[in-house]
Amino acid sequence: MLYILGKSFVGLFYPNLCEACGNSLVGAEQVLCTACRYNIPKTNYWETDNNPVAQSFWGRVGVDKACSYFFFNKGSNYRKLLHKLKYRGQKEIGFTLGRYFGQELKNKSWCNGIDMLVPVPLHPKNLHKRGYNQSECIAQGMAGVLELAVITGNLIKRTHTESQTQKGRLERWQNVSKVFAVINPQIFEGKHILLIDDTMTTGATLEACAQALLSSCNCKVSVATLAYAPL
Ligand SMILES: [Zn+2]
Repeated sequence: MLYILGKSFVGLFYPNLCEACGNSLVGAEQVLCTACRYNIPKTNYWETDNNPVAQSFWGRVGVDKACSYFFFNKGSNYRKLLHKLKYRGQKEIGFTLGRYFGQELKNKSWCNGIDMLVPVPLHPKNLHKRGYNQSECIAQGMAGVLELAVITGNLIKRTHTESQTQKGRLERWQNVSKVFAVINPQIFEGKHILLIDDTMTTGATLEACAQALLSSCNCKVSVATLAYAPL
């Protein structure tokens, strides 16, 4: 009760704003205003199996299917959403966009056959520093709509990788390979796992996660990311 009072009291002075365009949110709007929600630059890749996200894993690792929610265009308002989710502590962006994404996938029965959602893990040091895993927030939002469990703590990140931003594709791959491991393979045995990440760029991290899963147990792996930002 106190919390609710406190929130509406604060709301009198600091109205909630759309995280993309900055306009005031009205009614039941959360995170995005109706216009920004409507204008999300969706990939619609969940309608095509041979989409560019899925194709980027071909010849690298056996991913069953893959898609992303929206394009991560330079200078776009939607780019800010990812930044706020990752670096400004705005976890609700992950939960809300995860729900919207989950709804799109549900409408097309894209997740039929998927048993569980597994967010790409952070190294414990980074998790401690940030206080949360942004991919887990997205997965939690999706899980509510898709009625699937989110499994954390079984796929883990072992070593602290250097910053990836200045590296080429091969270097990135060498940097991330073998850093992911499965603690208890029994949990994933015979399951179809949907790996969740915030952004698909080269796919090197997702590839390394999929390799760790496929080499540790008999499972199937698919991939879903919120944003798609091809290099
Ligand atoms: Zn807006």
